[in-house]
Amino acid sequence: MKILKLEKGKLDLFASVVQQFGEVHAPTEHEGKFSFKRLNSWSEARLDYNRTVLPPRKYFLPPRETLFKYREATGYVPATEDLEKRVVLFGVHACDIHALNILDEVFGKGYLDPYYLTRRKNITIIGIDCTPDEHCFCRSMRADFAETGFDLFLKDIGDHYLTFVGTARGDDMVIATGPLFSEVTHSDIVEYKRRSSQKCDTFKLDLEIRDLPEIFELEYQADIWEELGEKCLSCGNCSMVCPTCYCYDVADEVKLGSHDGDRVRLWDSCLFATHALVAGGENFRKTRSSRIKFRFYHKQRGFVAEYGRPSCVGCGRCIEACPVGINIVGVINRLRGVEHASTD
Ligand code: SF4
Ligand code: SF4
Repeated sequence: MKILKLEKGKLDLFASVVQQFGEVHAPTEHEGKFSFKRLNSWSEARLDYNRTVLPPRKYFLPPRETLFKYREATGYVPATEDLEKRVVLFGVHACDIHALNILDEVFGKGYLDPYYLTRRKNITIIGIDCTPDEHCFCRSMRADFAETGFDLFLKDIGDHYLTFVGTARGDDMVIATGPLFSEVTHSDIVEYKRRSSQKCDTFKLDLEIRDLPEIFELEYQADIWEELGEKCLSCGNCSMVCPTCYCYDVADEVKLGSHDGDRVRLWDSCLFATHALVAGGENFRKTRSSRIKFRFYHKQRGFVAEYGRPSCVGCGRCIEACPVGINIVGVINRLRGVEHASTD
């Protein structure tokens, strides 16, 4: 992998050049919350953010999208708006890059999702270092650094960013901005290693994922699932903010008095009461306890069996978003019989 360094003071210049690779979107702040948005000017970018409310998956699997239209006069009309739009997502954290790699497994292998895959091809990812806060546990989930899934990744070493080039497109961006980059020196490497080890010590949440699927297997009848069902509101906030959740619903929206309509897909949540409702009126997960249990089992046990890793990257969004304080780290540590000071 090619590694160079970029002076921090020249980041705005770099951002202005990479516009030739697509519309630049980055985290911006509004009333203390962060969200990825198209930048009007580089000064809006807040690369020191902790987490965005919605993860970058909103660019690849939008909350609502039209899959195709059907018209009596013209028949089937594919919906391709925005699919080919080129975007540069500037400042994606390692955990969210891991989450995209997980979505790649789901949408890019077996049944190929052309909508997701086209967007993935057209959206450039520039990753950036982060500082863990009280909700982060990406290190426990092995998602605190990214080896793949980005075009460039910027690691803070003081006055410069070490810039890891992940793809040919990343290399093109470096070539396009050539004089801004310089060779890495021995003292840069020393500083990188010092910061990397220092970062490991800053995590406040810790979770052991070794043999977690087995623990889940053993605790299928544990009382905690009923307790969580009593508490959970089935609001679905935890799924909506999760970078790895990918459940969606498909609906036909027919225009009244016509045979014309749109087929749309919309984000869904396994916490919603209707998620497991099927034709004939049977609901396989009627109770809130069965739904929250399903969410935990899918992420920490079923996904491991199918894809070899949990579908959680430890971003902490669900902890922050849950209105009744259900804390994934606290739940898992309780299942393990390990209490942690920072979780209820
Ligand atoms: S389950 Fe929670 S912590 Fe894990 S990836 Fe989803 S939102 Fe983040
Ligand atoms: S955010 Fe909390 S209350 Fe809402 S569905 Fe998720 S676990 Fe339940």
